[in-house]
Amino acid sequence: MDHATLRTTPLETFPPPERWDDWEELDAKAWPKRVTRHYSLVPTICFNCEAACGLVAYVDKQDGRIQKVEGNPYHPGSRGRNCAKGPATINQVHDPERILYPLKRVGPRGSGRFERTTWDEVLQTLGARIRKAIVEGRKTEVMYHVGRPGHDGYIERVLQAWGVDGHNSHTNVCSAAARLGYTLWSGHDRPSPDYENAKFTLLLSSHLETGHYFNPHAQRIIDGKMKGGKLAVCDIRLSNTASMGDYWLAPRPGTEALMLLGFAHVLLRENLTDWTFVRDWVDWRAYQQAKKRGGDFAAFQRDLAADYAFATPAHVAAVCGLDADLVERVGREIGLAGSAFASHIWRNAAAGNEGGWAAARCLQFVSVLVGAVASIGGTAGSGTNKFVPAPFSKPRPQDVWSELLYPREWPLAHHELSFLLPHLLKSGRGRIDTYFTRVYNPVWTNPDGAMWIEALSDEQLVGCHAVLSPTWNETARWADYVLPMGHATERHDLMSQETHAATWIGFRQPVHRVLAERQGKKVTWTWECNPGQVWEEDEFWIALSWHVDPDGSLGIRQHFESPYRKGERITIEEYYRWIFENSVPGLPAAAAKEGQTPLEYMRRHGCFLVQDRVYKTHEAELKHGDYEIDAEHGTVREGGKIVGVYAGGKCRTGFPTQSRKLELYSQTMVDWGWPELSTPVYVKSHVDESRLDRSKNEMVLVGTFRLPTLIHTRSANSKWLTELSNTNPVWMHPGDAARIGVEMGDLLRVSTRIGYYVNAVWVTEGVRPGVVACSHHMGRWTVKGDQVSGNHWQLHDVDLRKVSGTAYLMRRVKPTGAFASADKESEKVWWSSGGVHQNMTFCVQPDPVSGMHCWHQKVVVTKAEPGDRYGDVFVDTAKSMAVFEEWLAKARPAGKYGTGKLRRPQHLKRVCRPSDAAFQL
Ligand code: SF4
Repeated sequence: MDHATLRTTPLETFPPPERWDDWEELDAKAWPKRVTRHYSLVPTICFNCEAACGLVAYVDKQDGRIQKVEGNPYHPGSRGRNCAKGPATINQVHDPERILYPLKRVGPRGSGRFERTTWDEVLQTLGARIRKAIVEGRKTEVMYHVGRPGHDGYIERVLQAWGVDGHNSHTNVCSAAARLGYTLWSGHDRPSPDYENAKFTLLLSSHLETGHYFNPHAQRIIDGKMKGGKLAVCDIRLSNTASMGDYWLAPRPGTEALMLLGFAHVLLRENLTDWTFVRDWVDWRAYQQAKKRGGDFAAFQRDLAADYAFATPAHVAAVCGLDADLVERVGREIGLAGSAFASHIWRNAAAGNEGGWAAARCLQFVSVLVGAVASIGGTAGSGTNKFVPAPFSKPRPQDVWSELLYPREWPLAHHELSFLLPHLLKSGRGRIDTYFTRVYNPVWTNPDGAMWIEALSDEQLVGCHAVLSPTWNETARWADYVLPMGHATERHDLMSQETHAATWIGFRQPVHRVLAERQGKKVTWTWECNPGQVWEEDEFWIALSWHVDPDGSLGIRQHFESPYRKGERITIEEYYRWIFENSVPGLPAAAAKEGQTPLEYMRRHGCFLVQDRVYKTHEAELKHGDYEIDAEHGTVREGGKIVGVYAGGKCRTGFPTQSRKLELYSQTMVDWGWPELSTPVYVKSHVDESRLDRSKNEMVLVGTFRLPTLIHTRSANSKWLTELSNTNPVWMHPGDAARIGVEMGDLLRVSTRIGYYVNAVWVTEGVRPGVVACSHHMGRWTVKGDQVSGNHWQLHDVDLRKVSGTAYLMRRVKPTGAFASADKESEKVWWSSGGVHQNMTFCVQPDPVSGMHCWHQKVVVTKAEPGDRYGDVFVDTAKSMAVFEEWLAKARPAGKYGTGKLRRPQHLKRVCRPSDAAFQL
């Protein structure tokens, strides 16, 4: 392992990998006795968020039990540091209420009753259903719906091998808006800031990058600060990160894009712009042509400054509710940092607002103006700092298109319209024969959860529902099968993330299987070594694919046959062995240096640094070719098509856009019906001040933040994490509390357009007046009397009942508290809240361009009414459908807009991209 990866403050006392087979340590719990324990150490990667931090499991050699999980200091992304959720993996592994065996429903769907079944029965039943759907040409009726992916590209290959259009994700409740904003500029859909070298960092995120590359980013933000860099945090709340910032920016929700244009204005006005970078790498001619201007670059410079002359600090201050002086100062700080300006937006304003994607686009505009793109201390495109190696076979794309995934109304949606699935099903747009929810809990996580209950209860809409999850969740109640899948120490996955200016891969491993194989034992399936019969998805999909196509006649099985043993089923070891031997540059050589095969190397280290110090990839020279060079316009063509940029006297690769340059002007937006949004602009949010009726006590509810110690929906099985965070009161400014007449801890009723919830108030100056905020990771529940449930560290029992044909009331009947289990600590649970489930009361609000759910809600906040109880949730699904129709009408559908008869621009990314023919309407 290259120790250069440990660029700052290396951990110096961690066991070296050569001693991981037998590591001796004194048992801390035996103190004051000196008891020596012997451990086998196995590296893996965390599965509790998408950052893929390195972990090392300590397995006691005497009893074979995992005793602790620590950070892996040799991991290039996390460098041995984890957030609380990494070490808490041990709680999840030893959770006394785990589902350990595959379960099958008994009684009607949603009755909460299940019985144990076998993996064989599961494979036979699901395999036969999927085969039938494929053979009968119902290739849009098999759907896989993922919450936390935790791997790169594995399932996409499976689904394309089956020939179905069935990949659904959680991205439109997470990041689709920001992705669109970034994609329009550069073709990369996420930012990768070089925080540790930044002179000035601007974050539009809730915490130290809450939830997205949380710890690898957090540690580098602090490294940058410790080297003298400054930090500005834009957040409606005084979050942990904002409290560490040199500047806290809390503009009115939805005005963030204008604030960013204010910074751009300062840069242009003060000539703090890197004009050389802009001249070479921005498609400024297209911008000028679109505005019917000719002229040279000097004219463009003048015109651009004039175009953004309106965004003066005074104007921005008036609209955003900020100090003009603050806008001016931050703008100048950005200009002085120049190419060492790092920036990031995730969730936050992008995920909250109609037009939230424009905030990402305006943020990138600021980065472009100062030349801070892929520079040292700047922000690169995600694709340059992430490495996804190719597997041994690539199936051809499917020839079908599911309108349940990509409805024609949102041709520019960056990912599937996942959260609208119940609304689309109930509108008669299709049905699902076999539906997998995989590490995903839509009933609880998504807005409008009661609509999910209704859709999943209806066997005409969803023929069979299998939940693949490492832990019990609310959605599992409406499943036909509950299939236990592994935690971080119980599964294989390969991951890479854009944590910093480098590329690396991390290898998640089933610890007990690795140890069994080290001892020479033969293992067929990972579940043979895991607790109970907990399996891993990788092997499950291989086994299931063989059941779908047992004789190979459908052409599916060939993709699940060994590349080393012709015609035989591939083992999971062979799958990764092939990748490590053939697809990761430098890995075979590094392994050979240690006298290992590439697979042995990855089993030993759990990670590999592919390339360090990755900067300015757009400047890479093109391979020699038969190019037509236009030096004046800076273009390189081949066969008439632009393939690169001519800059500095050389042919360079540029960016993955149609012009190969950064696109200040988007022809795509014009072609698909949004000409008014073709350049970086501010879009008025659905919660804009002008759309609030303050006389009716209307406020904005910000529910996009989370507590950094919790996972969206998978930490209720961790006693440590739940002890740290077990309540989610509503943040309210003292002025608003006085107006409403409540004091700290009083009950509030927060009413949305489709229902209400009742929660306690937390009165604090750490939130902007006129805005309330509530974390979305709390209020987990289980229906009283259900035979199967779990997670009682955090879940409380509820009575969930219909109070009319369309309305539901959920009321807690037993608070969280001590319970009996095999873990004696469950009798010591002292907390009683568990928080309040707010997402169920949120109506769906799909952004008309990006398709992202706009999380901010317009709410009326009042004192709780007589009869209200803490934790009450009321929702009426008749109103849900009405709001859905209202937002649907804002969209601009393909067919009416767009080029030709396409469903979507073919150059925009689409998960599991179908064949070109399937794009035709
Ligand atoms: S940041 Fe994410 S991956 Fe890293 S330890 Fe925390 S939860 Fe795990």
